[in-house]
Amino acid sequence: MKTFNYHLAKDIKEAKKLASPSSTFLAGGMTTIPSMKLGLGTYKDIIDIKEIKKLSGIKVIGKILKIGATTKHVEVANSKEVRKSIPSLAVLAEGIGDPQVRNRGTIGGSIANNDPSADYPSACIALNASINTSNNRKIDAENFFRGLFETALKKGEIIESIEFEIPLKSNYQKLPNPASRYAVVGVYVAKYKSGTNVGVTGAKPCVYNDKDLANELSKNFSPSAIDGVKILFSGMNSDIHASANYRANMVKVLAKKAVEAC
Ligand SMILES: Cc1cc2nc3c(=O)[nH]c(=O)nc-3n(C[C@H](O)[C@H](O)[C@H](O)COP(=O)(O)OP(=O)(O)OC[C@H]3O[C@@H](n4cnc5c(N)ncnc54)[C@H](O)[C@@H]3O)c2cc1C
Repeated sequence: MKTFNYHLAKDIKEAKKLASPSSTFLAGGMTTIPSMKLGLGTYKDIIDIKEIKKLSGIKVIGKILKIGATTKHVEVANSKEVRKSIPSLAVLAEGIGDPQVRNRGTIGGSIANNDPSADYPSACIALNASINTSNNRKIDAENFFRGLFETALKKGEIIESIEFEIPLKSNYQKLPNPASRYAVVGVYVAKYKSGTNVGVTGAKPCVYNDKDLANELSKNFSPSAIDGVKILFSGMNSDIHASANYRANMVKVLAKKAVEAC
């Protein structure tokens, strides 16, 4: 039997106060609960943050789309604001897991967890996202995702919201794992006046901006512009789902599809 103390935090101040080295936050529970059941995570205190009003909601402020951390995938997928400002982000949310996962899982939980195959981190990289936290920090996505399941968050620091810069055009393409829908490889392309970003998930231990693809697409935003780019397979993930070589090839295939779809 697993024993722990459950706390339903009413606000951020209370959640922060309850946090300790042996606690964890609970948002959708879609990673935390399976991890606990499998014995991969053991906590003395579970701090439920999903009722904290300040942490949820979606709004557009000028050229920024701001999404609260506990906003569920289904809410992002169905949001009029998201569909109008960054439609590719709504499509990404719609393609996460299954209805149960989308109805409980949250954007903040996904980003905090930084699974190497999660979809949202690629959007954060491509859409010049900033992550706002309870420590009054605004962290650029490029500095937020540090490595395999590792982020810039400090113990007890809560993601409050994510701000995405609305692009001129964008698209997300993924090769989903047929069972979980996690990305075997996922590529998010976003075009801005200043240039293009290419967020890649699933291919390496951590999400990244493929600078070679981004540079070519910044000069010429067309699928053929990346014909000559060589995607190196060294450093890519290799597992029962796909070899490193296959993943390297898929990065380019999906990037081309994304540009075409833009
Ligand atoms: C069967 C299945 C299929 C899935 N398929 C996909 C998929 O196709 N694509 C995909 O991207 N994901 C997928 N997921 C992951 C899912 O989408 C969730 O987003 C993810 O599990 C974590 O979100 P959560 O809200 O459930 O977080 P929780 O499980 O509640 O928390 C996860 C971690 O994040 C921390 N955390 C949560 N919220 C915050 C916050 N605001 N600030 C700081 N830390 C926080 C918690 O402390 C914990 O360490 C799948 C999950 C399952 C179970």
